Amino acid sequence: MAFNPFEMAQKQFDSVAEKLGLSESIRELLRVPMREFTVSLPIRMDDGSMKVFRGYRVQHNDGRGPCKGGIRFAPGETLDTVRALATWMTWKCAVVDIPLGGGKGGIDCDTHTLSMTEQERLCRAWVRALSSEVGPVQDVPAPDMNTRGYHMIWMLDEYEAIHHGKFPGFITGKPVGSGGSLGRTEATGYGVICTLKEACKKLGIDITKTTASIQGFGNVAYYACERYLKLGGKIICVSCWDNTDKCSYTFKREAGVDIVELKRISNEHGEIDKVQAKALGYEILPGEAWIEQKVDILIPAALENQINATNVNKIADTVKIIAEGANGPTTPEADEVIKARNIYLIPDFLCNAGGVTCSYFEQVQCNMNYFWPKDEVLDKLDQKMASAYEKVHEMAVDKKVYMRDAAYMIAIDRVANACVARGWAMK
Ligand code: NAD
Repeated sequence: MAFNPFEMAQKQFDSVAEKLGLSESIRELLRVPMREFTVSLPIRMDDGSMKVFRGYRVQHNDGRGPCKGGIRFAPGETLDTVRALATWMTWKCAVVDIPLGGGKGGIDCDTHTLSMTEQERLCRAWVRALSSEVGPVQDVPAPDMNTRGYHMIWMLDEYEAIHHGKFPGFITGKPVGSGGSLGRTEATGYGVICTLKEACKKLGIDITKTTASIQGFGNVAYYACERYLKLGGKIICVSCWDNTDKCSYTFKREAGVDIVELKRISNEHGEIDKVQAKALGYEILPGEAWIEQKVDILIPAALENQINATNVNKIADTVKIIAEGANGPTTPEADEVIKARNIYLIPDFLCNAGGVTCSYFEQVQCNMNYFWPKDEVLDKLDQKMASAYEKVHEMAVDKKVYMRDAAYMIAIDRVANACVARGWAMK
């Protein structure tokens, strides 16, 4: 049966709703998104032909503030994937305690096959189709898989043309100098490592003596690697997609991976050139090899459903921590095994919340029209991430629950309280 991320998000919610003893009316409200939009986007292609793309925006819950969440360009994107990601955004904003709700968007497309002008038309068409449903006080998009600052600025430009004004708070992840915040590019990856550093402290692990295996080499993975290396860790391998061979590969070097040299031989999609990597002394292993390395730390930072019932038992017995950089990388079946093996897990919506936290800082700066220096942004980010981590860890210890459940308990409780206060549900 095909993996359905929304069913997984609901399964996770149901189990925590049970633990928290939530009322039926809260469960009914939070199990499903409040609003969902599916739109057709007819685009004129560069060769003069027309093509229709499917676009989505899902607003899961805005009880704590305007919805917030990225827009992904992903081949085979489905409404259920977007629903799941929107749901996780609600919990993510709540767990780091920023006054925002959860939303997500997507377009079913493959950026490998689209020119920049076609991508620009697609961005503008998505905004035109949804221009009255999204906005600075309703729902604020951001970059995600395969979308970058230049996509955000095209979307902002279209939104401002429609609404006749300047609305820099409409979208985040904008380029610096065009309403973007310093530190936003690095924020998700750096946030992952902030939580990992705190976890190492709690577990009495000296991070400088640790090794890690990373899945992915895109935005999240790259900056997670950068921060982790700066703290003294050693990366044994990274993995990424290879669009020529239509499969993924793991790039391993036992002596340690040099991310700067790998970046030099990778493209804008985070895909490393395997011929050049081999020449630099990397072993090129199958894509799944990242999970079976004898390391202390695993960081899945590519996509969902990567640690599942079929491969969870391949995790080496040296692994002490899994820090989930990607959204939804671990299935509930794999969670059971990780729990039983006592591997410490930093759950996705806490671990990768640095991006949305910095997006929130970007909105704040845009609203003030005053921008902070990079150090100030990154300091504030560290404080937010460390304090969110601390609360989740404490809850996990106090209630003797799995870290994912602890994070859910904090987040769902906050969202439920906000909804009850508004009269949307009964306690
Ligand atoms: P990206 O497009 O920049 O990079 C994705 C990376 O994953 C690329 O290196 C790609 O080659 C690799 N990849 C794709 N398929 C693979 C496979 N089958 N095996 C191994 N590697 C594969 O994306 P990103 O922004 O780094 O996002 C990665 C994950 O993090 C996604 O789950 C995303 O939803 C999540 N996330 C991103 C942000 C953000 O700020 N960018 C924030 C929170 C969560």
